[in-house]
Amino acid sequence: MTRSAHDEARELIALGEGLTDAQQTWLRLHLDECEACRHYAEAANGVVRSLRSLPLAADARLVRATQMRVRFHASRLREARERLWLVGMACLGVGLSATLTVPLLWRLFQWMGEWAGVSAWVWQAGFAFFWIAPALVVSALLLARGTHLTDNGEKHWR
Ligand SMILES: [Zn+2]
Repeated sequence: MTRSAHDEARELIALGEGLTDAQQTWLRLHLDECEACRHYAEAANGVVRSLRSLPLAADARLVRATQMRVRFHASRLREARERLWLVGMACLGVGLSATLTVPLLWRLFQWMGEWAGVSAWVWQAGFAFFWIAPALVVSALLLARGTHLTDNGEKHWR
């Protein structure tokens, strides 16, 4: 066995696929006889196998990334639910306090109107504005905050 035969065998091994039938036959015969080149071929095949398994590893990473995204999405949904609950409670609080304070405010405006000697519709309009303005401000603030949070995160809450 000449040295050039081993070199040629390793060259064919390095080429891998795409050998002619004659080359494959010659290589198989050489590998049957030559242990050194057989080891070389095994090592080369091992490299090829590990290269082929790389897409699988990438897939596993992709799966992990997808799982993380799903978990992230779920946590964002939970946050959105909590925020909705908070907004709901705030609205309830505003409504409740408004309901409780309306009769008192009404009487206060009536008393002030009579004290100032203005017509009934004037103090009633003042009362209406005084009562509606805070609710308007609060709802505008909540709305602005909600949109702000939505813009910061992904468009998940809705
Ligand atoms: Zn050889």
